[in-house]
Amino acid sequence: MEVGWFMSICPLCNARREDRLTALMLAVVRATNEDEWVTATVHLEAFKYDGWPKKTLREDYELGMGEEGVLKVDYACGCSECGFMFHDEYKVGARLVSSWTEAQAQAMQKRKEQP
Ligand SMILES: [Zn+2]
Repeated sequence: MEVGWFMSICPLCNARREDRLTALMLAVVRATNEDEWVTATVHLEAFKYDGWPKKTLREDYELGMGEEGVLKVDYACGCSECGFMFHDEYKVGARLVSSWTEAQAQAMQKRKEQP
């Protein structure tokens, strides 16, 4: 079994960041006078400087073929910023094959069957 973890960008935080960036850009475009435009531009530039996506999503995984012949994929993630969480686990019993060539042929056949 391979067990590990890594940090990445949270999809929920990223969506919120995109929404905020759009709102700040609209404020610049919709400014009706110079004071509004300067204020909106300052907010937009400040957000561009500090609002880039950060790797707040910890992703943990476990992957591999156990000794009992069951492929296991266990995945979980959690964001330290917004609390987004996800977990899923798959277990699939392996079909035994007599050779590496047969295993490759089965994999190729399976690819052909998928849309
Ligand atoms: Zn998040």
